[in-house]
Amino acid sequence: MNPWYFTGTNEELNNFLLEVFLEDEEVEQLMYSELYELETDEFSEKIESLRKEKLEVLDELNKEADLTDTAYEIAKASIDYTFYKYKENYPFKHRWKLREDNLHEISEDFYAYRNDIEYGNKNLTYLRPYYEFMKLHLGNISYMTCSDDCGKNGGAIKNQLHFNQHKLNLIDSLVGEKELRDNLFRNVAFNYLLREHDVDSNKVFIDEFQRISR
Ligand SMILES: [Zn+2]
Repeated sequence: MNPWYFTGTNEELNNFLLEVFLEDEEVEQLMYSELYELETDEFSEKIESLRKEKLEVLDELNKEADLTDTAYEIAKASIDYTFYKYKENYPFKHRWKLREDNLHEISEDFYAYRNDIEYGNKNLTYLRPYYEFMKLHLGNISYMTCSDDCGKNGGAIKNQLHFNQHKLNLIDSLVGEKELRDNLFRNVAFNYLLREHDVDSNKVFIDEFQRISR
């Protein structure tokens, strides 16, 4: 099955995306075996060079196949968001891999790509790397906001109701595209209700969910 939810008819593009996806599994393994343990700058450089390699392959393909603008955009976004996803995941995986007590302070440079994130591009809504990225990105920002503003000892974050309220509000403020917004809201609700079984908390959550996600 094509894992990309991509309905284009351009066979070369589909093959390319499939290839990127297959290699992505190798990259994923490399992340866990070697890369997440790198320090921030080194990790950043590595990710950037892997991303550039893929973009070069795409440009070669584009020369031969002369992709439509939309096809090119989708292929490029697949590559970009695949690698940005690893960066969103990095602080947490790095801490876990090295069994560190605290998350690293991460510079704004590390997250420079966030300036270019598209929250309202319909062409990307069902692109898997984009959606996977969005979930990690919103989780990362919610976590960082909460640990900076709400409580220093992680207590607030461990409170599922509180933490997921951050996520709902963040989606509300960032994501304009209707379908992406709905999908992300539903994803938060699903994960929350899977974990939390306290009736009173659930009522508070569902009320807020309905108010915000309308
Ligand atoms: Zn908080």
